[in-house]
Amino acid sequence: MPATSSVEWDPDLESFKGRSTTTYAAAAAAAATECAACHMPVTARTPLALSVDVTGGTHEDGTEYFSFETQICHRVCRPPALTFTVGHSSPIEFTPQAARLILQNPLTGSSTAALVFTYLPMMSFREPGGELTSALVTALLRNGFQLAMGADVGGILRDTGPAAGDVTCPVTDAGVLTLRAGQATMYHEQLDPADPDDTAWLAVARSGTVLVIGGDNLTFNSAGPDLDAAAQLGTLAAGMVPVIASTQDRSEGTTALPGSADDPPVTE
Ligand SMILES: [Zn+2]
Repeated sequence: MPATSSVEWDPDLESFKGRSTTTYAAAAAAAATECAACHMPVTARTPLALSVDVTGGTHEDGTEYFSFETQICHRVCRPPALTFTVGHSSPIEFTPQAARLILQNPLTGSSTAALVFTYLPMMSFREPGGELTSALVTALLRNGFQLAMGADVGGILRDTGPAAGDVTCPVTDAGVLTLRAGQATMYHEQLDPADPDDTAWLAVARSGTVLVIGGDNLTFNSAGPDLDAAAQLGTLAAGMVPVIASTQDRSEGTTALPGSADDPPVTE
């Protein structure tokens, strides 16, 4: 079995992840806090094993779609594994994961609201003859977001320009936050107007623009979002998005990754 530092993985994983396999395995191990089998803690020195469940199918245009669900276990609890299930050929249910931050500029004293989000499971596609590509990152780049080369949020804020003109962040009086690209909803969240953290974030966001950072291979823990693996794997994109006051209480229509008309719809 091939191994990356302390984590072993199934050799068939490389047929999906290619050159990014080792970084993917290392990122999964670094993000794990407990064994998925026995639920005891994992540490950097424990021999670990990576299990990946891949679900995939081929769309009628020949594009293959894959979603990846990853588990880290002690090697004594479960050996490395890879399963492949023939499933969706494009539509899939996603669960968004997100963190909201307020960034302070030490020079000017100004504040910027940031939204960091990903979807689980990770969704990738491969066009005939092409490479495996992140569906979310592709959708973001098509909408004027820019690849983030580093994981430092302050650096990303400094280097990021505006997203495309039809990308907006409507926020309602009731605290419903939406990220829209044209008619498509990319992210949707009800903030709690009674929660001080949510209220503070909304106040900063309403003053102008939000730094939106999205991608694959992000992990969220109590210390905040960890963007290291995403930046290393080239699956992190960012854009400045204007916040607009909205009277609409709920977003309408299907949540979708915008792009070509037959891109997979996303539902929460
Ligand atoms: Zn275990």
